[in-house]
Amino acid sequence: MSTNPPDLRPDLAAARLTEPAPRQGQPRIGMVSLGCPKALVDSERILTRLRAEGYAISPDYAGAEAVIVNTCGFLDSAKAESLEAIGEALSENGRVIVTGCLGAEPDYITGAHPSVLAVTGPQQYEQVLDAVHAAVPPAPDPFIDLLPARGVSLTPRHYSYVKISEGCNHKCRFCIIPDMRGRLVSRPAHAVLREAEKLVAAGVKELLVISQDTSAYGVDRKHDAHPWKDGEVRSHVTDLARELGRLGAWVRLHYVYPYPHVRQLIPLMADPANGVLPYLDIPFQHAHPDVLRRMARPAKSADTLAEIARWRADCPDITLRSTFIVGYPGETEEEFRYLLDWLGEARLDRVGCFQYENVAGARSNDLPGHVPAEVRQDRWNRFMEVAQAISAEKLAARVGRRMTVIVDEVDAEAATCRTMADAPEIDGNLFIDEGFEALAPGDMVEVVVDESGDYDLWGRLAG
Ligand code: SF4
Repeated sequence: MSTNPPDLRPDLAAARLTEPAPRQGQPRIGMVSLGCPKALVDSERILTRLRAEGYAISPDYAGAEAVIVNTCGFLDSAKAESLEAIGEALSENGRVIVTGCLGAEPDYITGAHPSVLAVTGPQQYEQVLDAVHAAVPPAPDPFIDLLPARGVSLTPRHYSYVKISEGCNHKCRFCIIPDMRGRLVSRPAHAVLREAEKLVAAGVKELLVISQDTSAYGVDRKHDAHPWKDGEVRSHVTDLARELGRLGAWVRLHYVYPYPHVRQLIPLMADPANGVLPYLDIPFQHAHPDVLRRMARPAKSADTLAEIARWRADCPDITLRSTFIVGYPGETEEEFRYLLDWLGEARLDRVGCFQYENVAGARSNDLPGHVPAEVRQDRWNRFMEVAQAISAEKLAARVGRRMTVIVDEVDAEAATCRTMADAPEIDGNLFIDEGFEALAPGDMVEVVVDESGDYDLWGRLAG
């Protein structure tokens, strides 16, 4: 998996928090957050709570009295990276509390690092806090330690991930997430909306909806309804998207499966007034029906090309992002070529691709016909070549168009922005390299696209 570039592996992207210096006597905690956007939301919640209790968040090991390592256990390479991060925190600081996905396997962690202070599993917020209280007692100061309006965030202030459910009811053979995180548990819709409303009130301009399976949201709650504003809201992805869209921020949906009811989301995306971005992140993973069957994927029998055509007919500007696995056990050259042809027809806008690898505990490990590493690499190269050509063509078609972008970063060289078609951290950017000096992160501005590359655009502020 090391051949997959990190920018295609959001589940491996690390994030560290930077905070102002603590006041004298204030207890200080460090946080290393590994893993996917879902884990990042967990880190944010833990830090929000610690901050509210009067802890300072240390940007480095030296300034911390203990360090929380939020781990990822999605793939063996991610587990190895998590163990390495724990080792680094132990040698740099010495007092380490482990949480997150890999925390579901405490023996694996304590076997390698017996001196960690505590190991807690995913979403065990209370246990993490108990471990922090035991390691570094709180010293609250009611005049100073007020919870900031938007809490503490590991992501820039102008966008925020919103986790709507935990766990998954599927059993994809290559995935151990259901074993680690359990079956689907959805948050009530009004609780999600209240959190989102607070985020928007505190200045968040873009809400990124995440879960293991966003289209399944609310199935476990039988789509129950709760009072919201002047009416009711069901715990159903369509209701939730519609209400989120009314809060006044961009709403971007991740991890949606191509179930028929997803069609109801498309009209919401087609009208910009609804606030739901015309963007679907759908992890197809493959296109050949036999491979999908061997993967035991949800919605595996869907005619995805017909479904995509339907979405585009209803919302011509929709951006489709997906991820794929090449070299899955038993994948023949013919099945791989089917995938390439499918991609050529589907012409997805944004694509990530992983080479298959075994994960301890995954049922796919026992499948026959494991594909040799050099064949996996070759298929990955061929797949990315096609995906890159499609991306370049699609971006070239945007030259001359006027569009709204959100500013993520401004430095001496340029303003790094994103269009509605680009999710932060995983998609491309639009750069403004002239007349950008007055811009600030979180600004939304109109630009005209001047130039395109394979994955990025360049533009100027519209007059
Ligand atoms: S849908 Fe499949 S890949 Fe996604 S979390 Fe569930 S089991 Fe894993």
